[in-house]
Amino acid sequence: MSASKKKMAVLGATGVVGQRLVAALADHPWFELSAVTGSERSAGVSYGQAVKWMLKEKIPENAASMIVQATAPDGIEASVALSALDAPVAMKAERAFRSAGFTVVSNASAHRLDPEVPLIVPEINAGHLELAARQRSRYGGAIVTNPNCSAIGLCLAMAPLRALGVRSLRVTTLQALSGAGYPGVASLDVADNVLPYIAGEEEKLESEPLKVFGDIKSSGVVNARFTVSAQCNRVAVMDGHLLCLSVETERPFSEADCSALFRSYVSPLGGLGLPAAPERPVIFREEADRPQPRLDRDACSGMAVTVGRTRKTPAGDLRFVALVHNTVRGAAGGTLLIAELMRAKRLL
Ligand code: NAP
Repeated sequence: MSASKKKMAVLGATGVVGQRLVAALADHPWFELSAVTGSERSAGVSYGQAVKWMLKEKIPENAASMIVQATAPDGIEASVALSALDAPVAMKAERAFRSAGFTVVSNASAHRLDPEVPLIVPEINAGHLELAARQRSRYGGAIVTNPNCSAIGLCLAMAPLRALGVRSLRVTTLQALSGAGYPGVASLDVADNVLPYIAGEEEKLESEPLKVFGDIKSSGVVNARFTVSAQCNRVAVMDGHLLCLSVETERPFSEADCSALFRSYVSPLGGLGLPAAPERPVIFREEADRPQPRLDRDACSGMAVTVGRTRKTPAGDLRFVALVHNTVRGAAGGTLLIAELMRAKRLL
């Protein structure tokens, strides 16, 4: 990779995901933060004043003194934008950036199911980035998306099991508070409680994995043919979404086969030297009581999904538990990895 760093703007830099992106860009070997944007509430003041910083590490000095810009392409000194905008805002704003020639790599759900837009988990469907090149010839720029935070965890956890063939999948999630952004869920709703509803979440989990595991054709992505049934719950955990999965497979298996598939899975991105890519993006834990959010969410700096509790159900399905750090691998780290992959493939 060349010594000159690629300039990056972060759209929605003041939110929960935006600040993770700002932190991740502070010492990045290939990229440098050159602009931060927000809503009218934040535009025109310094990032240090506008943000309610929630990470353990300090705000990077160069970011703290940047003036937050309006979320529009004019005056943004970059050709790549990492977006952490709310979905309704992202719909229009990301298209404006694309028309202005930017490559937008987005966390927002607005364009994920758009047939022109790739929905990428780098270890699974890097080939779908071809859609970005097609957009560029049509619009001048491109939008690339990463899946919903739970959907990323689900897809990565399923990647080692592809050899078994998936017919259907049932998933129940226990999702962390940070998944709702800031200020998120009212404390009086969630303290001493579990909320059995997260608006729009079950629909995302039931649709996005089919696109990720789909095949790229000249007409676009043809969805994978398995079905996903999801039930999503909000729990009083800060970070880390837990997923309890039950998978009906096409081929017979033993519990030992599944554990071996998880244990032997290594990243197919190995040769590319991507700074954020873990060598083992799926970590298998043998203990009966793992994974747990507090203990496992930071595995490989939050970039690996941890799985465990593999069992065969009385119906012959595979049951297991997966954990994903929702704001890192499920959001900021996921978009950063896509950007690194695009840079390595000379698409940025
Ligand atoms: P958040 O904490 O609520 O932050 C939202 C960001 O959007 C803030 O920077 C906010 O700026 C900006 N914004 C809001 N209205 C705007 C407007 N009218 N114009 C310009 N900017 C505006 O949300 P978040 O949790 O970081 O999530 C960001 C995106 O990532 C969402 O689309 C979310 O669905 C997705 N996502 C989140 C997670 C997660 O775990 N949290 C995981 C995956 C994907 P101000 O501060 O200036 O208002």
